[in-house]
Formats: sequence, C-alpha cells, structure tokens
Amino acid sequence: MLKRIDLSRDYRKHREEYLAAIETVCNETAFSGGKFADAFDKEFAAFCGVPYAAGVNNGTSALHCAMMALGIGAGDEVIVPANTYIATAWGVSYTGAVPIFVDCTSDTWEIDPDKIEERITDKTKAIIGVHLYGQPFEFGKVKEIAKRHGLYVVEDCAQSHGALYEGKMTGSLGEMGCFSFYPGKNLYAFGEGGSVTCCKREYFDAITTIKNQGCQVRYYHDVLGYNYRLEGIQGAVLSVSLKYLPEWTKRRREIGWRYIREMKNPLLTMQAHPENTDPVFHLFVITVEDPDDFITYMERNGMECNRHYPVPCHLQKAYRSLGYGAGDCPNAEYLASHCVTLPLFPEMTDKEAGMVIEACNAYKG
Ligand SMILES: *Cc1c(COP(=O)(O)O)cnc(C)c1O
Repeated sequence: MLKRIDLSRDYRKHREEYLAAIETVCNETAFSGGKFADAFDKEFAAFCGVPYAAGVNNGTSALHCAMMALGIGAGDEVIVPANTYIATAWGVSYTGAVPIFVDCTSDTWEIDPDKIEERITDKTKAIIGVHLYGQPFEFGKVKEIAKRHGLYVVEDCAQSHGALYEGKMTGSLGEMGCFSFYPGKNLYAFGEGGSVTCCKREYFDAITTIKNQGCQVRYYHDVLGYNYRLEGIQGAVLSVSLKYLPEWTKRRREIGWRYIREMKNPLLTMQAHPENTDPVFHLFVITVEDPDDFITYMERNGMECNRHYPVPCHLQKAYRSLGYGAGDCPNAEYLASHCVTLPLFPEMTDKEAGMVIEACNAYKG
C-alpha cells in the first residue's frame, strides 16, 4: 500500500545524521530552549528572509503568541478563513477574541478577499490568512483591505514552508508568520515544534517573553507567560531537516505539477494556482462527487488517501456558540464535503506518482 505520506523513508535515508544531532543535544543536556533551539531560530529566519524567528513548541502556540504579541484579546474580532485546520481559529480564541469565519473562493480554495470587508466591524483587529495546502493566498488584496481598515495581517504558514508569493517567501509578507513543524508538514520535527517569523524586534521580544513563562530575566515574570519553548532536540533535528527542505520542496513541486499536467479526469477538480505564486504542494487535494467511493477505489488500487478537512471551522461543534449554520460559507462547505487528499511526499518515486495519476485517470465514479 502506498501511504498518503511516508516519513519513514526520510528517516531511513538520513538516520545517522538525525541521531548524531540528537546525541549532541544529549551530550550537552540543552533540552529545553537553549543553544540548539536558538541556532535553528537563526537558520530558519534566514531561510524565510526575515530578521527574526522565535521557535515555539507547536504551530498552535505560534498562532496564540502572534495574537498576544499584537495585543489581541477579549472584545476583539479576528477574520479567519472557514476552510483551514482548526488551530488557526484556536490561536484567536485562546486570547478571548472571537474568530470571524470568511468563505474561500471556489477555485483557489484560499480566503476570498471579496468576502472580507463585509465581515469587518469596529471590533476587528486582524486578518489571519492561511496559505492552505501550500498555496499562497492572495496576500496583495488582503493587505490592501487591511490597510484601508487599519488591521494587521498575520500569515498561517503551517502548510507553506518555502512557498512564494510574488517572489517573496511566505512568512515574510505579513506582520508575523506562524509555522508548524508537526510531523508531516513540509519541514517537521521529531515530535512537536513551531515558529513565529517577523521583521519587528518588538514582536520577537514579546514572543520570546511569552513563550518563556513571561520572563526575560529568570524568575522575574513581567507578564502572564506560557511554557511554549521549543525543545533542544527538536531544534537540532530541524537544523538537519532545514538543509534538505529545498530539495524536498523541489521534489514536491515536481510531483505536484506532474499531477496537474497528467491528470485528465473531468470527475476530479484540482486547486487553482495563480501565476503570481509558487506553491509547495503540502497537500494535493482534489474534489470529487463521492469522496468515500473515491477513497475506497484508491485503496483497492493500493493507494491511501485521506481528507483535509471534512468539517469547516464554522460548523465545528466547538464553535456552535458562535451561531453559524450551513450555507454561511458555501464554498468551504462544498470543499469539506467533496475533498480528498492524494498521496504526495518528497520520497515518492516517479513510478508511484505515475500509479496515482493512472488510478485517478481511470476513475469512473
Ligand atoms: C498544522 C496546522 C496548524 C497547527 O500546528 P500544530 O503544530 O499542529 O499545532 C495550524 N494551522 C494550520 C493551517 C495547520 O495545518
């Protein structure tokens, strides 16, 4: 069975290097934060083309930290796309602010800039755009709206490591970029990890304090803080992986564009990729009339698929109190009920990619 994503192939290939990195951390017992986490921060900032990156314990914390660094809290509203992983909205809710869900476009499946303005109120403080599936959202238009209304734009880059918008790295465009290094993301830790990238020193300092129990000087706590530090072992592993990220991204793009060129089945619809963007194919999602039938069909042909995401945020039980109903974000709802994610990961062989294409083309519904 070809898995949707198989991390073991990368581990087997670079095992010695990963284990040596972990061993170094153990020898120096720099387990929480510390020099290996700090070294990765510098490397990751350079990769994203920004002066600062603050490593944290996961991508959800990265979003929470970004909201806190902007001073967002109870009484505030933040615009969030309805079709994203739920953690985009958690980051807002943790501060006491309210996520306001906006629909996606019917072709890029990214936040629809034309539907943002009608949801802005005098409580709105920020817009979080998500570069979903590794496809940059229309940053230019979102930024223009934000500027007009005096709002911050924060990027959720949990799926977009290395993706470009008009030649610029995602994570360097907005006020801050929030990354996840969850296993299976384009750049991943051996456990949990995340980072907030930014150009302003004040954000970096705020996040460094927040993630470290609210202190800059040990045992002197200036603000309510959290234990959101990146672990040393994760920093060391990420430093190894970051060297391979360009290679992995190149391979993801190769496979992604090949799928687009060679998949010809009118029963399957693919995401649109605007010309001013260079996506990184974190997830290769298609829509199909009957996802369960399609997934069973692929399984019978030896390929595992899954779904991102079967329920849009505004219809999740956890957000029932916000009062959304079916029909509020029709494009996101359509995507949720028709999406299927095909196998795609850097270590896939050409033959395996060919198998996926062939099976997709032969699907009759
Ligand atoms: C993975 C993900 C997150 C959360 O990251 P974690 O590291 O799992 O906490 C947030 N937003 C999006 C879009 C994601 O895909």
